[in-house]
Amino acid sequence: MRITRISAYRVELPLHEGSYKWSGGNAVTVFDSTVVRVDTDAGLTGWGEVCPLGPAYLPAYAAGVRAGLAELGPHLLGEDPLELGKLNRRMDAALKGHPYVKSPVDMACWDLLGKAAGLPVCVLLGGRYGDDFGLYRAISQEPPAAMAAKVAGYRAEGYRRFQLKVGGDPDVDIERIRAVAAELKPGDRLVADANTGWRVDEALRVVRAVRDVDVYIEQPCPSYEDCLTVRRATDHPFVLDEVVDSVGMIVRGHADRAMDVVNLKISKLGGLTKARQARDLCATLGIGMTLEDSWGGDIVTAAIAHLAHSCPPEYLFTATDFNSYVTVSVAPDAPRRANGRLAAGTAPGLGVTPDPAALGEPVLVVG
Ligand code: MG
Repeated sequence: MRITRISAYRVELPLHEGSYKWSGGNAVTVFDSTVVRVDTDAGLTGWGEVCPLGPAYLPAYAAGVRAGLAELGPHLLGEDPLELGKLNRRMDAALKGHPYVKSPVDMACWDLLGKAAGLPVCVLLGGRYGDDFGLYRAISQEPPAAMAAKVAGYRAEGYRRFQLKVGGDPDVDIERIRAVAAELKPGDRLVADANTGWRVDEALRVVRAVRDVDVYIEQPCPSYEDCLTVRRATDHPFVLDEVVDSVGMIVRGHADRAMDVVNLKISKLGGLTKARQARDLCATLGIGMTLEDSWGGDIVTAAIAHLAHSCPPEYLFTATDFNSYVTVSVAPDAPRRANGRLAAGTAPGLGVTPDPAALGEPVLVVG
């Protein structure tokens, strides 16, 4: 099978709640997502998606996806989309870095592999564990009482994992953690995700002030070294996210005992091929995982579902259903949250059939 054409579509994804806010005063109201279609000489079509969390979160931005695909795409015409390892080496040789550009192409090729094999992607990624898996709900940064007031509604939707967006004024963040923790029920898990927003001294003050609270601390500071300093000063379970962008960082973090859980985002690593490698290494090392992406709609959510459903469940801390946060659906057959849980589809590939009317005309066609 050969790749004959790569097309990109720009899709706007507004939020049900109007906006999403995190550390450093960052906010997004409408996500700019890119859906990628890979056509082949066999008549099969694969679909992928990537959606940066705005331009200020990771080294990724929406227009950069399209610029990168224009650069990368011509190198992939004629390549076999089913040979994922070779294809990833080809992408890395043609374009240094820019993992988020490669992610939707790799995702679309997994969709093709599944369709060619007649198997859902989760089976190809290792196997389907159980009926479904648990999701977390991100709580956008607001004043403490407003964030606490959201918990009951999210729990009514079935969520039992709550990821609190902190990384602001540390005194207010202490109040945020305490206010939300007061709403928890037995079995709930609370994560305070600073998204790199604190200095070391600020993070040290927060973890000391909430020492009695059952809360995970996620990525307090920008650098790995600063996070490690905080980690060594607290006995809270500790999550690394933004700095874990490669297998090498997982190995380093494990050697330093720098984290208990890692957050693996598909596009941060460069696609499902590399996310699977990282996931399987973490499972082997005994590291818990949050499996997700930077953001996305139906196709990203389907890819997360296949990656998470095929993760050994004792190492899956949680995952995300981004398509329930946004008002636009591009693939009506994508998996949907039910009682706070998600399941990968059983159709071959990713199991998504994008609606041409929702995609509109492509903004880029290579081939
Ligand atoms: Mg995070």
